[in-house]
Amino acid sequence: MSYAASPERYDRTPIRRSGRSGLQLPALSLGLWQNFGNTRDPLTQRSTVLDAFDAGVFHFDLANNYGPLGGQAEINFGRILREDLAAHRDEIVISTKAGWAMQAGPFGTGGSRKYLVESLDRSLQRMDVDRVDVFYHHRPDPETPLAETAAALDFIVRSGRAHYVGISSYGAEASREMAALLRGLGTPLAIHQPSYSMMNRWIEADGLLDVAAEEGFGVIGFSPLAQGMLTDKYLAGIPEGSRAAAGGSFNSQALTGEVIERLRGLAAIAEARGQSLAQLAISWALRDARVTSLVAGASSSAQFTENLAALARTDFTAAEVAEIDEFAVD
Ligand code: NDP
Repeated sequence: MSYAASPERYDRTPIRRSGRSGLQLPALSLGLWQNFGNTRDPLTQRSTVLDAFDAGVFHFDLANNYGPLGGQAEINFGRILREDLAAHRDEIVISTKAGWAMQAGPFGTGGSRKYLVESLDRSLQRMDVDRVDVFYHHRPDPETPLAETAAALDFIVRSGRAHYVGISSYGAEASREMAALLRGLGTPLAIHQPSYSMMNRWIEADGLLDVAAEEGFGVIGFSPLAQGMLTDKYLAGIPEGSRAAAGGSFNSQALTGEVIERLRGLAAIAEARGQSLAQLAISWALRDARVTSLVAGASSSAQFTENLAALARTDFTAAEVAEIDEFAVD
């Protein structure tokens, strides 16, 4: 069936500015890490992307290695873009990344200029686009000089392959250094993508949020639901078809009795606010204006729709924040 985007889409989801850059993002973005490869139904993938777009979610987050198999999420997303969203390419913010291992050999991982530029060219081919909107260095690489990675990111923007650049999972001090290097080159650091959730608060302790505000880059937190832990689905065991049951990136050993107790405590707070646990997790992670957006995953459109409803409730009383702090520890 042919797709026509909802004319009301920009009235539905709040938009936040990424630091002091021109980049603006929906407060919740869709991540395509695990559910857009070759193990998931293509029609579910399509409806998840198109329903999100209709709801005002115009940012889709990818990486060279998303799948399974690595590269497949870009291929599948590229197909949806071509077949359904081609008329909206200029409205859509596509991000991709390189940094984690993608292929054999010294230029299949890391932060070298050769890996980053070659990998992005492959990503563009897979998605069948001529540029992305944001390109990230996916993780710090202690072996490659920061200045080389910065120069590669600058080149990527100047050569028209990306409009903005970002970094992911860099600590506060390395982020400050990268921001200074990029500023010196004339290509500002637009955004940082760290993990952030009620179960993972390192960016608060590390000072990354402070550095972001000082340097003027935005922050988009990944895995705000701790891969699904911060939802109602694991409160009574591990359901079939869930990420924990698949035994990949989600180590089900992490679901200890103590963790389940904390999740139940948070679920009770969610209920008192009239929210699901997933909604509370999203609302909470957006309570600080320095967080530009969150990038969440979903294995169905229904999950993502439920999560989007959280955006209407990012206000918290001091008592709620204090109560959440009792359970929301790393
Ligand atoms: P989340 O923490 O958002 O977890 C998503 C999973 O939670 C879904 O796949 C689903 O699990 C479950 N879920 C979501 N909503 C609901 C709901 N309402 N009810 C019940 N279960 C729900 O994030 P991800 O770990 O998927 O990461 C999100 C994105 O962040 C990635 O797609 C990627 O774009 C980015 N990312 C970036 C990284 C980086 O290094 N920069 C690293 C990791 C992720 P199930 O599939 O079991 O149904």
